[in-house]
Amino acid sequence: MVCLTGAMGTLLWIGLLMVSAGAGADMTLGGIFYEDDVDMQSAFNLSTRMYNFTSSMRTVQRGQILEVSEHVCDLVKEGLIGIIDGTGGRSSEHIQAVCDMLEVPHVLVQHNDLFTANWSILNLYPSGEAYNTALEKLIIHKGWQSFTVLYVKGHILGRVDNLFRLGNETSDMIVSVRELSGEDYRDVLIEAKESEFTNFVVDCPSQNIELVLNHSQQVGLLADEHSYIFLSPDLFTLDLTQYRYGGVNVTGFRLMDLKQNKKMWEYTADLNEETGQTREPEEIKTEVVLIHDAVKVFYEALKKVAVEPQELSCDNYDSWAYGSSLLNFMRTNKINGITRQLLFDGFGQRTNINLEIMELTPAGNQSIGEFNNGLLDIQRPVLPVAQLTSESIMKNKTFIVLISTTAPYGYIKESLQELEGNDRYEGFTVDLIEELSKLLEFSYEFREQNKYGTLYANGKWDGMVAEIMDEKADFGICDFTITSDRQRAIDFSVPFMTLGIGILYKEPSKQPPEMFSFMAVFSTEVWIWMLFAQIGLGVVMIFVGRISHKEWQNPVPCIEDPDEFSNQFSFANSVWLIIGSVMQQGSEIAPIALAPRMITSVWWFFTMVMVASYTGTLVAFLTVEKNVLPFTNVEELYRHKSISYGAKKDGSTINFFRDSKNEIYQKMYSKMKSNPGWLVTHNDIAVSIAEEKNYAAFMESTSIEYYKERHCDLLQIGELLDTKSYGIGMKKGSEYKKHIDDALLTLKERGDIQKLKDIWWKEKRGGGKCGVKRDEEQKQLTLRNMVGAFVVLGVGCLLGLLISTLDMLWGVFKRSLKYQTTFQYELVEELKFALTFSGDVKPVRRRLTEGSSEALADDPEAKDELKSLRSVRSSDTHRTHHSHSHSSRHSSRSQSVAFARMRSYD
Ligand code: GLU
Repeated sequence: MVCLTGAMGTLLWIGLLMVSAGAGADMTLGGIFYEDDVDMQSAFNLSTRMYNFTSSMRTVQRGQILEVSEHVCDLVKEGLIGIIDGTGGRSSEHIQAVCDMLEVPHVLVQHNDLFTANWSILNLYPSGEAYNTALEKLIIHKGWQSFTVLYVKGHILGRVDNLFRLGNETSDMIVSVRELSGEDYRDVLIEAKESEFTNFVVDCPSQNIELVLNHSQQVGLLADEHSYIFLSPDLFTLDLTQYRYGGVNVTGFRLMDLKQNKKMWEYTADLNEETGQTREPEEIKTEVVLIHDAVKVFYEALKKVAVEPQELSCDNYDSWAYGSSLLNFMRTNKINGITRQLLFDGFGQRTNINLEIMELTPAGNQSIGEFNNGLLDIQRPVLPVAQLTSESIMKNKTFIVLISTTAPYGYIKESLQELEGNDRYEGFTVDLIEELSKLLEFSYEFREQNKYGTLYANGKWDGMVAEIMDEKADFGICDFTITSDRQRAIDFSVPFMTLGIGILYKEPSKQPPEMFSFMAVFSTEVWIWMLFAQIGLGVVMIFVGRISHKEWQNPVPCIEDPDEFSNQFSFANSVWLIIGSVMQQGSEIAPIALAPRMITSVWWFFTMVMVASYTGTLVAFLTVEKNVLPFTNVEELYRHKSISYGAKKDGSTINFFRDSKNEIYQKMYSKMKSNPGWLVTHNDIAVSIAEEKNYAAFMESTSIEYYKERHCDLLQIGELLDTKSYGIGMKKGSEYKKHIDDALLTLKERGDIQKLKDIWWKEKRGGGKCGVKRDEEQKQLTLRNMVGAFVVLGVGCLLGLLISTLDMLWGVFKRSLKYQTTFQYELVEELKFALTFSGDVKPVRRRLTEGSSEALADDPEAKDELKSLRSVRSSDTHRTHHSHSHSSRHSSRSQSVAFARMRSYD
């Protein structure tokens, strides 16, 4: 079957000559997955779309193996170019049988070494052979003298063949095998524990890993002395946090290179979009990524070989003529997938694999080396298990810990009896060390050191830094800021608190409200918008009023047949209506037509909201006395003439000013240095000066928080000047750092550090005295608060405009019929009249005796009549022009004009 026939050879050449641009276009790829494998199904849909294939997918229930063959027969009827199989195990065997018969490429993405000799298979999962080599080398590297292979029932041990040979060949290597069967592995694991097995190789599908770990933990097989190698490359896609701290050594493999794999990140993003999840690349299962690579293998092969899809039937003994050549190209084509380079052996099994060796450590998952082209390269020695645990390293040791008596980090305990040793102290850091000692089981002895560490020009350090450097103390814990200078001299643990420099100042006296405080209710922006809204609405009202047919009313109701109509929406009237509503006074102008009524109602609604908001807030603005701060930021403080400022001498705060490149900070530093009274030895002193004098204290935000809780007249002004953290100091390269870091992280994750902070900041030693300060400052109403009302107004106006335009068009249409003129003529006339925005009377047009205007075209008298009517229109727009009122024919009209003018309320 493998060899190519003459016909195949010809086909191959034709294929080679064709360079297919849209390789996947119009080709159908089949996929078979388990119903509950939603990720695989999504990956299949996504990947086929990516490479322009048409996809046809079938899903089967787990355990329903017989259905599988029917699905395959069903699929091949559609004329597929191959089937991607996400099921594995026995089910794959059935798929393989049909694919073999019909010569359709069958691509697997799971470990399965049953069909290596069959021609129509391609497996993207690393071959058992590759695994055997990697495992063998890793075990030799670890120096195991004995180990147990744990495998899940039904799983083939093809990946651990070589290990059995290890047992045979090396006399001092003991290899045993245990099968994990059923749903409960505990019995087998207990038996392994009783036999004192400590090293395990676990060969199980990825969905069983968690159960194995869980049951091993329950029976006590995840302790310091235990070591595991998991074969599944999905081990590190799981959340292993709960196993991190037990001391067990867990090693595994990863097929994808996540470090610089842009494709993997993109694929994850696409997959997240497809599935609606938010996973990270390291959480995606290997098989799901292999689906992409499988589709790519088809795509790349089709670029080189032309194939003709064929509808096949399982009932006939047909086979696909192009199947074997396509598969040959897929096997020999060297391409790069997301799971690195895809190379296959003659049996379609993936070879030359590159695996990343991963290890679970208390600090998380770590890459420790690589298996590449048959070579194992471990970049750091695998530490003997015992050294990694806290037990042998810190347990039962006594350390000298430096603390400072800086509130609230450390206090001298108040007691009637004389206290000794560690009992003399209390405070946040004292409790923190106690918690750490419980976790790491060490003892400690406190020593007081109130100087933290300053670097002098001669390169020498003092304080805690010097003592730690000289190994006079093991740890330093206080409000010990991690700075780059200190970090060069000693090591710090991971931060246990973050902060920044702030300004502490006394609360200024309250000032009475200002004369125009009623204006402050709305921000300037809102006032301006209101003004524009009123002007805009005035214009809209006039326009809408003029084009609304119903707004033109008979000014003298006693004249039945008036010559003139008048309109109340003059500029003055419109403005009066608007202002009347704002002032809640109303006006006698009442819109008649639908559109002006609508706009007026929306305006009333708008004014209701604005006036209610204004009056609701006004009282507060007229009565509340405000804090008027003498400065609001560090620049203003610098420019202030009568306020002095300072910080703690020799601390990281003053050093921040010393080292800053900012000109203002530099000048402030010189000023602080030249005024010795401004720099203090202790934050407590800075606080009492700030309370008594015009003095602003630069202090770390954590300390400001502490003092604000106890000195209610103090507040923090402005933003923080920087961000930094506190850590525990220890000597450079300390072997305890890793353990202290892990323990601190554990305390953080458990929320213990926050609990301690709440106790020492808000409860003990006078905490909670000031309560929660109410924000008395009344909030001004800005455009953000009022924008909704403006939007309603705008939408209402637009609707009104639309309705009035329709109304006008309808009127124009009717007039054009009545006077038998064109619609366009009437529209232009109407708009001309409306847009002149002057003249609030409109003559009544009458049907002329002779009929239409066209009919009158040749009649000079009728023309005069028309002309006169038009001139009336235009002259009416200029009220000073009275010529038409003298016409005897328009005597009643002049009367109506007079009434109309009386009705204009300007
Ligand atoms: N945390 C500072 C330090 O580590 C002391 C306090 C300060 O400078 O504000 O030096």
